[in-house]
Amino acid sequence: MTSHSTLSRRFAATFLLASAVLFSGFASADDTSKAESVDDSLSVLIITSGCCHDYDFQAKAIQMAATKAGVEAKWTVVNDGGKGTQAEIDFYGDEDWAKPFDVVIHNECFAATTNPDYIRQITKAHHAGVPAVVIHCAMHTYRDAEIDDWREFLGVTSRRHDHQSHYPIKVVAEDHPVMREYPAAHVSAMDELYIIEKVWPNTTVLATSKSERDGKSHPVIWTNQYGDARVYGTTYGHSNETFQDEVFLANLVRGMLWAAGRVE
Ligand SMILES: [Zn+2]
Repeated sequence: MTSHSTLSRRFAATFLLASAVLFSGFASADDTSKAESVDDSLSVLIITSGCCHDYDFQAKAIQMAATKAGVEAKWTVVNDGGKGTQAEIDFYGDEDWAKPFDVVIHNECFAATTNPDYIRQITKAHHAGVPAVVIHCAMHTYRDAEIDDWREFLGVTSRRHDHQSHYPIKVVAEDHPVMREYPAAHVSAMDELYIIEKVWPNTTVLATSKSERDGKSHPVIWTNQYGDARVYGTTYGHSNETFQDEVFLANLVRGMLWAAGRVE
């Protein structure tokens, strides 16, 4: 969706420029820059609310990190549904809720919401090609649901987490475009380690951390292909300290750009 509209806009701009040259026989440098200044900004939706985390702070931190990385974006933040573990957000009630967006960031936390129709209204849009970023408690959202659609969309299944600690992060796919600038030896801010009980078939694990309880490694950064959509995920993101960690934020922005097809 993104690349098509961007391409068609670029084509239109090129066509206009060519017409101007054809009919006037001359285009100044000013004319050229005007013709090429197409709107390439990213339209980003952040869905963020529910239990246990400081979503206002986190949503602002994501936007500031993108700006710092030079990303031009138009942001829509939906913080609805309260601070509990169960809610159905009105925003998803619109059949075309995802249409205006190049990428959707899910940073919500509603473990006890189980309505299959509601969940599929969300996953359906992504399956049709709307890219996504999934953060921390998104992995425990719809945890009590019987259907697996959301978990397949995420690319991992998780139902619990270990205690908060500073977890060393081991990069296991250093050549992946999302990880190219990631330091070899980074340690998480104070955060929870999510226990991953299943990695779905279209998931590529990019980085892992070890449980301090049993030494088992768990994916903490990954990508997934869900239908026609790219998904970037990270289970870190509990604390505001994590949303002040430059490495975490830069990787999140890079993951968002990769999901949206802007980094290859
Ligand atoms: Zn948390």
